[in-house]
Amino acid sequence: MQRTLAIVKPDGVAKGYIGEVVKRIEADGLKIIAMRMELLTQTKAEGFYYVHKERPFFNDLIAFMTESPVVLMCLEGEDAIARWRGLMGATNPENADPGTIRKDMATNIERNVVHGSDAPETAAFEVDYFFKGSEIMG
Ligand code: ATP
Ligand code: MG
Repeated sequence: MQRTLAIVKPDGVAKGYIGEVVKRIEADGLKIIAMRMELLTQTKAEGFYYVHKERPFFNDLIAFMTESPVVLMCLEGEDAIARWRGLMGATNPENADPGTIRKDMATNIERNVVHGSDAPETAAFEVDYFFKGSEIMG
């Protein structure tokens, strides 16, 4: 069993894709064991994306992630990290496989609807960054 952090990013929430994303997660058999809507502060978004702080797109990314609310979820299942990233598709929707969330719903490489942890270490950090143990219905 594995846990991973999923985010419906501001573009996904604003365009009305929360339900479609949740539907795909549940249809795949991943369990949503925590879920909350939040308007990220600058500080909270910067801390979350600190690994990207030297990247040229960092300031744009923080502005995007704080422009309107996100939906935060903790998912659980066998191989949850890879399965959720499979449902998401490639970072750039132009390279995403047909039938993935980003291929179907993303605008561009930045406004790409969803986030997913990329490894067990980052998943542990990211789930803990947003959820207290008492908020996780594991
Ligand atoms: P995420 O971490 O959001 O799940 P990812 O792991 O597919 O996406 P990362 O390389 O971790 O991609 O980049 C984090 C986020 O930064 C991307 O999802 C996207 O919103 C933004 N981003 C990445 N590369 C670029 C870029 N070249 N230009 C603009 N924004 C970018
Ligand atoms: Mg990433």
